[in-house]
Amino acid sequence: MRIVLLGAPGSGKGTQSKLLVEKYKIPQFSTGDLLRAAVSAGTELGRKAKAAMDAGQLVADDVVLGMIQERLATPDAKGGFILDGFPRNIPQAQSLDAMLARVGQPLQLALLVDVDIEVLMKRLTGRRTCGTCGAIYNVYYTPPKVPGKCDKCGGMLQHRSDDNENTVRNRLKVYEEQTAPLVSYYKAQGKLRTARGVGSISDIFKSISDIIEAQMRPLAAVGVGTGSGAKPATARAVAARPVAKEAAGKAAPKKAVKKKAAPKKAAKKKAAPKKAVKKAAPKKAAKKKAAPKKAVKKAAPKKAAKKKK
Ligand SMILES: [Zn+2]
Repeated sequence: MRIVLLGAPGSGKGTQSKLLVEKYKIPQFSTGDLLRAAVSAGTELGRKAKAAMDAGQLVADDVVLGMIQERLATPDAKGGFILDGFPRNIPQAQSLDAMLARVGQPLQLALLVDVDIEVLMKRLTGRRTCGTCGAIYNVYYTPPKVPGKCDKCGGMLQHRSDDNENTVRNRLKVYEEQTAPLVSYYKAQGKLRTARGVGSISDIFKSISDIIEAQMRPLAAVGVGTGSGAKPATARAVAARPVAKEAAGKAAPKKAVKKKAAPKKAAKKKAAPKKAVKKAAPKKAAKKKAAPKKAVKKAAPKKAAKKKK
């Protein structure tokens, strides 16, 4: 299963990612780890990355993508991967798609761990850490018995300065601005699934596992392996069906679904990577205008709701 994980700071997606790694035996690709490994191994990409970092610059997207591609070729990534922290914007998502298309391993799922912003605020601003033993509390959800004092050792609880309300709200705003376009991007591809990131860790993991297994079933039914470029396209079409139904909801015009899916598939099959990148821009534009009202409607209330709160 090839998965991109999306979720705000405080959404708990890091915890969920670890559980996914254990359950499905697929590695998590974190760009930080890939960078460190490539730099210490002294690969060509690693040297490029180091040069950029030494110069105080960001590592170029194509360097990061190259590292992801190299990592993909390692044996433990045969069954797929979980990408966390990349892509962060549309150009990165497009280059990632192009690279994965080249190697015949397209993404199968973009999984959003969705948590209301006010819950995120409480999770992040409510954190307190014991200065003595390191125990972690949350004044809203898991408060100590005596305010400011550690239950375990009586130590003073500390509030990190970057957990203050303004800093956190700003971080969440940046996240929202970066991620909202990605959510639309993967939704338009029929690859987005959303798990509510509220409740116990195991409840959340259950709903995430259900999503993944629902995704894997149609693939198995069609007999798609890790094979050629053509097969994943079939898989994509199959996998897209349930979403289309969900998204379409009550009204569910089948035509719309077919129309949506068909041009995309065609585009991708032909598409040399470069084309895919170029094409993507007009796609966005086209979708905003043409795209089924539902998609627009759905997106709008969400944003509105978040802003209100
Ligand atoms: Zn303590």
